[in-house]
Amino acid sequence: RIKINLDKRLSESHEICIGYDFQDRMGLLIAKDHPANRYVIVTDSNVSQLYGRTFLEKLKELGLPVELLEFPAGEGSKTMETVLGLTARLLEMGADRHSMLIALGGGVVGDLTGFVASIYMRSVPFIQIPTTLMAQVDSSIGGKTAVNLPQGKNLLGTFYQPKRIFTDLKFLETLSDEEYLNGLAEIVKYGLIDEPGFFEQLEREVRALRARSLEILEPVIERSCRIKKGVVEIDEQESGFRRILNFGHTLGHALEAASKFTLPHGKAVALGMTAASRISACCGFLPPEERERIEALIRDLGLPVRIPSDVAGPEVLGRLAMDKKKEGNELPFILLKKIGIPFMSKDVGLSLPEKILEEMA
Ligand code: NAD
Ligand code: ZN
Repeated sequence: RIKINLDKRLSESHEICIGYDFQDRMGLLIAKDHPANRYVIVTDSNVSQLYGRTFLEKLKELGLPVELLEFPAGEGSKTMETVLGLTARLLEMGADRHSMLIALGGGVVGDLTGFVASIYMRSVPFIQIPTTLMAQVDSSIGGKTAVNLPQGKNLLGTFYQPKRIFTDLKFLETLSDEEYLNGLAEIVKYGLIDEPGFFEQLEREVRALRARSLEILEPVIERSCRIKKGVVEIDEQESGFRRILNFGHTLGHALEAASKFTLPHGKAVALGMTAASRISACCGFLPPEERERIEALIRDLGLPVRIPSDVAGPEVLGRLAMDKKKEGNELPFILLKKIGIPFMSKDVGLSLPEKILEEMA
């Protein structure tokens, strides 16, 4: 059972198909709707073993001219070196502007493949097949591509939309708990920045979500995709509104960096959302009982609301101060007026986050 076409399209090209166990259908749809002289599946070493090679065989059985390129799994591969390695292989196999890339994997594969697709021979089309929860609800949607530089994350990139996104919940069955939690944190974020009804649904379904019940995950993933897609449709190039997707991420990124990236992204964002809710309540916006509900949901889903002892407060503040400098001495914080009503504030400063960080230690 698959649901095709989440209503309207983004940039005339962007269509999300959500379902369970439909890799055979994906092959057929690719052959029918996306003709190309060559298909190149790009994946990482883990996903290649789990799914890449069988997917390659499925496409071959359909008679499609297809090859597979893989690189070592992990954020460490999101570099220009990998981009140059991949492009060298594409040239070797004769890929040209009539070829199609297929990103099969998590956010790292999606960001890298999208970046290569946007610049190889001045752009070739690509398809996203996200295999982590994070990639399914977040990174595959919206057209941001990137690689990291030694100076920082995502410093080189483009806005470039995939032709299609195939979201198969079957992939999630092999995902580790930590990777699953990374995606759940982004889902909570959607519950806080869009209709409060979604937040209430998450509150009701905590146990099912922890148990990874497919019955609940499907509508929750679909709703998350709709929310992200809706935000991006309003502000594709992030001139303003799209920034609400950064809820919990200002402090989240500072915490990640201060932990030397030992704190996984989802946990860092959970802490960032807890802190942003506390800041919102302290400033008199968010009612205290809503702040408590937010923390309860985060905790009940198995995400942290207390900062681990090995992450130093001053280090986190130092990172925030650096961000502030970069943004022209303003630190844009996404805060909440209520659950479901985010807004951007530029006058939070650093002393309130400092106090909140201490409270959360
Ligand atoms: P990831 O791609 O590194 O995947 C996490 C791990 O899970 C990897 O080891 C991977 O091999 C493995 N994996 C993938 N699918 C699996 C499966 N089905 N079963 C078992 N293991 C599997 O990380 P991620 O969390 O998916 O994505 C994080 C990246 O996404 C970061 O680089 C981040 O910057 C980027 N990102 C981009 C956007 C965007 O808008 N473009 C948004 C959010 C995050
Ligand atoms: Zn995130």
